[in-house]
Amino acid sequence: MSQHACVFCAIIQGSLPAHIIMQNDAVIVIKDIAPKAPVHYLIIPKKHVTDITSLEQQDAQMAGQLLLMAQQLASHLSGSQAFRLVVNNGADAGQKVFHLHLHFLSGQVMTDF
Ligand code: 5GP
Ligand code: ZN
Repeated sequence: MSQHACVFCAIIQGSLPAHIIMQNDAVIVIKDIAPKAPVHYLIIPKKHVTDITSLEQQDAQMAGQLLLMAQQLASHLSGSQAFRLVVNNGADAGQKVFHLHLHFLSGQVMTDF
């Protein structure tokens, strides 16, 4: 998919509305439009990268910032600071938006999978 047709790029550019939780130079966090848990955020790099497979060595710092953003989000949670991160990498893994994102899930006891 081209960057121009990417829903997350449109949100990052401000041409599509979203509930923004937090952002910095490299990362934006939005509420998932169809939450699967009481807290369901999407941690998204502002650079358009399709998936983990597409990351390059030069993306190492950005990739680390995604995890540090999860740490920061957890520190703002009320109640338990436990959370689950999920990345669907590739269509066969359930990826539907082909702009890298981490699902940040919290607010309930997670079952095994
Ligand atoms: P994937 O299946 O690619 O890992 O996850 C894509 C996620 O993006 C889904 O959980 C879906 O609900 C969410 N999503 C898709 N389109 C939009 C949108 O326009 N706005 C927001 N906030 N979330 C979206
Ligand atoms: Zn994009």
